Parts: sequence; C-alpha cells; structure tokens
Amino acid sequence: MSHAESDAYFNFIDEEVIWADIARAKKADRAEVSAVIEKATEKKGLTPYETAVLLKNTDPELDEAIFEAAISIKKAIYGNRLVLFAPLYITNECANQCAYCGFNAKNGDLDRRTLNNREIQQEVAVLEKLGHKRLLLVYGEHPRFGADWIAETIRDVYSVTSDKSGEIRRVNVNCAPLDVEGFRTLHEVGIGTYQCFQETYHRETYSKLHLAGKKADYLWRLHAMHRAQEAGIDDVGMGVLFGVFDPVFDILGLLTHCNQLERDCGVGPHTISFPRLEPALNSEMAYNPPYPTTNHEFKKIVAVLRMAVPYTGLILTTRENAETRKELLEVGVSQLSAGSRTYPGAYSDPKYDRPDVQQFCIGDNRSLDEVIRGIVSDHGYVPSWCTACYRLGRTGEHFMELAKTGFIQKFCLPNGLLTFKEYLEDYASGETKKAGEQLIRQELETYDDPKRRTLLVDRLARMENGERDLYL
Ligand code: SAM
Ligand code: SF4
Repeated sequence: MSHAESDAYFNFIDEEVIWADIARAKKADRAEVSAVIEKATEKKGLTPYETAVLLKNTDPELDEAIFEAAISIKKAIYGNRLVLFAPLYITNECANQCAYCGFNAKNGDLDRRTLNNREIQQEVAVLEKLGHKRLLLVYGEHPRFGADWIAETIRDVYSVTSDKSGEIRRVNVNCAPLDVEGFRTLHEVGIGTYQCFQETYHRETYSKLHLAGKKADYLWRLHAMHRAQEAGIDDVGMGVLFGVFDPVFDILGLLTHCNQLERDCGVGPHTISFPRLEPALNSEMAYNPPYPTTNHEFKKIVAVLRMAVPYTGLILTTRENAETRKELLEVGVSQLSAGSRTYPGAYSDPKYDRPDVQQFCIGDNRSLDEVIRGIVSDHGYVPSWCTACYRLGRTGEHFMELAKTGFIQKFCLPNGLLTFKEYLEDYASGETKKAGEQLIRQELETYDDPKRRTLLVDRLARMENGERDLYL
C-alpha cells in the first residue's frame, strides 16, 4: 500500500461525503425535516445526513419541534436522573502546542504543576468530603507521563477512603492517546471511561491548530478509541471542541467516527462531550473563536445529538454558565460536572484556586451543594453518583444492549436515588437535605414497579441506619 493509500484507509473521515451531506441537507423542505424529527422519536438514532437536515433547519417552529422531541427522548431513556462528577487536574505540563489551550507548551506565563502521590491523595480527600464518587482525571501530554505513571496516579485516587461514605468508585480518564499496551495498563488498574476529543475532524484545520508535539498527528488521535477497545477498555468517550471549525461538519465527523467504531469494535462511544471554546491564558483564538456558536445553536447541537445517538451519555462541563446549563439539561444532557477546579492542586490549596491560571475560564462557579440544590429545586432532577453497572461488569456492548431494553429506567433510577440518599445523609447542607428528601418522597410515590419499590424502600431505611453503598 502506498503512503497515500494507507492514509486514505486509516482516515475513515471522508470529507467530501460530509460536505455533500451538508449541501443536500440545506435543500430539505419542511416535510423532510418533520419526517426526520418523527423518525428520531423512535429512538433508533439518525444517519449523518438526517442529523445535518436538523442542524441546517432554519424554521423557528421546527427548531421548537426539535427541542420537544429531544426532551421526550431524554425523558423516555434517562428519566429525570443526572449523573454528577468532578474533574481532577493531575498535571498542566504539556509538550503540545494546541492553539486554543492555556496549557500550550509555548505559554510561558502559566505556572506548571504536576501533583505527586501525596498531593493527589490530598485533592481526592477534599473531593470525597464534598460527596464526590466519580472523578475525571485530566492530564497534559508530556514524554515524562507514560502509561505506567498515569496508572500510578489512578491507583493513588482509588486508594483514598475517608469517613462516612468517602471513596471514589469510578475514575474516568482524559489523557493523550496511548498505544494498545499503554491502554492495557490503564485497563488493568480499573479505569472507567477513556475520553479523548478529536477537537475537529477537518484535517486541514486540525493541522493548523496543532502545530507541534505528538498531538499534531491527526490519525494517531483518530484511532485512539479503536486502540482503547482493542486493549479491553469498552467505555470510551468522544468529543468535539466547538468554536474551532464549522460545527455541522464536526458533528457529522463525530457521527462518522461513532459509526466506524461500532462497525469495527461492536460498540460506539459510551459518552460524548461538547466543550465550547472558552477564554484561556495567552490564547488569542480562545478569546476570539473563528466559529463562535450562539446559545441557540449550542442548545440545538445538544438536542440533535440526543436524537442522533439516543443511548450515548452527553456530558456538560462547568465551562458553561449556570443559566445555559439549566437550558441544556432539559434537551438532553445526562452527565454534569460540578464545583470544578481546573488547576492541579486547587481543591485542597486555595493558593492554586486562581481563575487567571486555570486551563480555561469556568462559567459556573457554584459549589457542588449549590448545584445539587438547583438541580433538585429548579428541575426536579435526581442527582446520581451511581456506579453499580460498572462494578457488576455491565459495560460497553453489554450496557448498550440493556439500555435499549428500558433497563436504565428500571435500575438506574432506584440506584441513583440510593446514591442521592447517601449524599443527603453524609454531605448535604440542611437546605439541600430538606429539598432532596422531598424529591425522594415524590419519586417513591410515582415509582410504578411494586417489587423494586419495596427493595428500594428497604434500602433507603437501611441507609438511615448507617449502611452505605447499597444498590439493586
Ligand atoms: N491533553 C489531553 C488532550 O489534549 O487530549 C487531555 C487534556 S485537555 C486539557 C482536555 C480537553 O480540553 C481538550 O481535548 C480540549 O477539547 C479542551 N480544551 C482545551 N482548551 C480549551 C478551551 N480554551 N476551552 C474549552 N475547552 C478547551
Ligand atoms: Fe496540552 Fe491537551 Fe491543552 Fe493540547 S489541549 S495544550 S494537549 S493539555
């Protein structure tokens, strides 16, 4: 195979096909848009072309119909449950030069810091005392940080337990792509989801944004999820950085990536993230995104993703402010970070809690307790830290099969309620506890499976008597 042929073989993103889909979608009439919305409500997902039809629609009435369909799909699959996590930045040292990131190797104004074992444990202890059970570890990319070193940091996190119910039950990881052997090392220490965002699927733009370092290799990154799956990590998380290129192109690229992974490995991504470019120290482009996305467009992106990949978790971070987050929760988000700090060491030491040196600006600065109170009081959502499936081996393809049979509703809601109860007992402020207990009572009243309801009531009572970590 010549170099050009092998490149075409490995690059399964066919840009011409994507542009052709977009051009055709622009011509879709009202009837076609309505038909795609109707199809989405069957919860079987959408093709890239159908997705483009929705994204390119400009009729405000049909946009409203898109939002309504997304809300109903979200409710049918996920109910009113919302999974919570916190990011934990382990290092901001980075050898890459991503034009949009404050950790860019050329940024001489950023104080570089890598946590040692003791410092990682201190951070985890603080997060546990706030009530967190699920963390996303974040790393810059540097030759010093190989798979063995990353695995050790993960072991450090799992090793910390504190009083009450303090323990981290799932560690997800967002680090630079590794080789299959490296991913195997991470799999062996028990990582949850491996996350890696392609940023943009447009190759020329990708090259312009990533001028040096290992990340400049587009194909190495594009195949990261395949390598992770080969190593046994069957929960993988994909993403696009909105603001750097045409959002419709990048969503179609992302869906093409999902489909390819499903074809080759039997399972698509467990989660999708959609960071939107935020101001970052010394990044001109982060202050002036070349493709800014309005709040309406962003809401539509989330809604359309929910329709296109109905069973994939959609993750929203604290990059967005509290108001935007509220709106996005309604149209499809299923996982949310809260109380985040994006500088290594900033949870345990206030001197590192400096907005000027964070990786990017945080839009929602509320504490975990405040976010939870908002979720409960403003939305009636049940915050969940549930990790039962992963601990019972229900991951990857197995999880997706169960999800499609309504399993999420049957197990995830009661298990979510149990973790919420644990939070209320051990960590909530008085006000949050009051609002939370009321929500649990309401949920029990409307829960229509008598057998599981009895099990649930029993476990809730046992929790009041001091038992912890109970699930169905
Ligand atoms: N270094 C690893 C990598 O690049 O994959 C992982 C860590 S990196 C901090 C995680 C993600 O942060 C990137 O994939 C990118 O999408 C996002 N990011 C970087 N700069 C950002 C900015 N200015 N605003 C919003 N998100 C940003
Ligand atoms: Fe480094 Fe990741 Fe930031 Fe790029 S996005 S500079 S690789 S931390």
